[in-house]
Amino acid sequence: MTEPVTEPVSEPAATGPVRLRVAPSPTGDPHVGTAYMSLFNLAFVRQRGGAFVLRIEDTDRARYRDDSEAQIYDTLTWLGLAWDEGPDRGGPYAPYRQSERLDRYRPYADRLLADGHAYHCWCSAERLAQMREAQQKAKQPTGYDRLCLGKSREQRAELPGFSDTPVVRMLIPDDVPLVFEDVIRGEVRAPRPDDQVIMKADGFPTYHLAVVVDDHEMAITHVVRGEEWISSTPKHVLLYRWLGLPVPFFAHMPLLRNTDRSKISKRKNPAARLTWFREQGYLPEALRNFLALVGYSMPDGREVFSFEEMVDSFDWKRVNTVGPVFDLDKLGWLNGQYIRALGSDDLAGRIADHLVLTGVLPAEPTAAQQDLVQQATPLVQERMQLLSEAEGMLAFLFVADADLQVSEDAAATLKADAAGVLDAARSALQALPDWRAGDIEAALRAALVDGMGLKPKLAFGPLRVAVTGRRISPPLFESMQLLGRASCLARIAMLRSRLG
Ligand code: GLU
Repeated sequence: MTEPVTEPVSEPAATGPVRLRVAPSPTGDPHVGTAYMSLFNLAFVRQRGGAFVLRIEDTDRARYRDDSEAQIYDTLTWLGLAWDEGPDRGGPYAPYRQSERLDRYRPYADRLLADGHAYHCWCSAERLAQMREAQQKAKQPTGYDRLCLGKSREQRAELPGFSDTPVVRMLIPDDVPLVFEDVIRGEVRAPRPDDQVIMKADGFPTYHLAVVVDDHEMAITHVVRGEEWISSTPKHVLLYRWLGLPVPFFAHMPLLRNTDRSKISKRKNPAARLTWFREQGYLPEALRNFLALVGYSMPDGREVFSFEEMVDSFDWKRVNTVGPVFDLDKLGWLNGQYIRALGSDDLAGRIADHLVLTGVLPAEPTAAQQDLVQQATPLVQERMQLLSEAEGMLAFLFVADADLQVSEDAAATLKADAAGVLDAARSALQALPDWRAGDIEAALRAALVDGMGLKPKLAFGPLRVAVTGRRISPPLFESMQLLGRASCLARIAMLRSRLG
């Protein structure tokens, strides 16, 4: 354990290395807020030097989910937000998983008890519920009424609502400092806290004690977290002071909000789940840019910028204090910008990975499949915002002819003359010496537009439906070239036979 320092630190060093942390709880799919916090933590750490710590706060066993920790690692790694110390990586302040640190909190609680800053409370859950109900009915502020304060176990046991195993509560003084300095917000006034429980009856610390002890023992210099923790900060400052520990700097980031300004919750919004972005085909660098953009403004007002550029300009003063709106249209636009800026080979690799993720391609695509993705990429690069759109546009290249499904809206575009169009197209294509997009187009124009006097839209529509099964697809003639003559003819014949 690091030796407690008796003098609280009040001024930040303006230069020199810093230590920041993100402390997610593994309670399910990682929340997008974890990435948002990590990004800002990391930007500051990379600017100043020091370490970014990933601590897993897994003491809430009721909400604990087994696979969640691995998902936190996967999604942060995918986003390029790598941590320097953490449960998987070790580091000088290990262990980084709270459940492995359980023996560390009790001595701090004992010290607070001995110094009269904390007391035992034996009130049963039923008594606390009744107390709260009575306070609400009487329109009084709710909070613990201190029935147990100053009583020994024996004295308390004689009163009703006694529970055998006590919790430990903080004794919040009348003159509790409610104002603290926030690195982003300046002076912040928080509501008066209740006599907060710091050790539960099961011997586990609550978040409030654990976070102070861990941040101290891990030598965290700046606690950067969501604004929902503002009301907890005065309690934490008290704990630091009572324990004689240096107080870190606090920065409370504005919460991400839905367009109706409500808090983003995993129950209501799929975009609260970090894994969702990958499934949808957002690029990690676009999501990173977006998360930076919602909370931060570049000195020159630019919207498209890299993480390195953010690091160079980083300044807490440029962080928003008003809850930024999580506008998926904006993210879609940014993603499109990033997709268009990628080299074709790079994009092809990402499209292939996405097609594997969604099961269009097998886990190990063949060289021929990879080659096809590579050739198809230029056809879709300008047409998509999300990698998932590539799936809809390119899936026709990867299904067997017999398995091609014609979508209902595509079938609905077929007019009475579609059968004649397909017949004429088939003979024109069969006779073609070279199977190249330009030749395919010339032959089809000659047969259908010039020969049958059809408008191009009516002439080529049925072919698009036959070959891709869809109303909208990448450019038709290039698509046909990629698919190959045999498949094109087979698919034209299939649709033709359906038309009778
Ligand atoms: N475990 C807390 C959370 O899940 C950490 C809060 C903090 O950063 O202090 O948000």
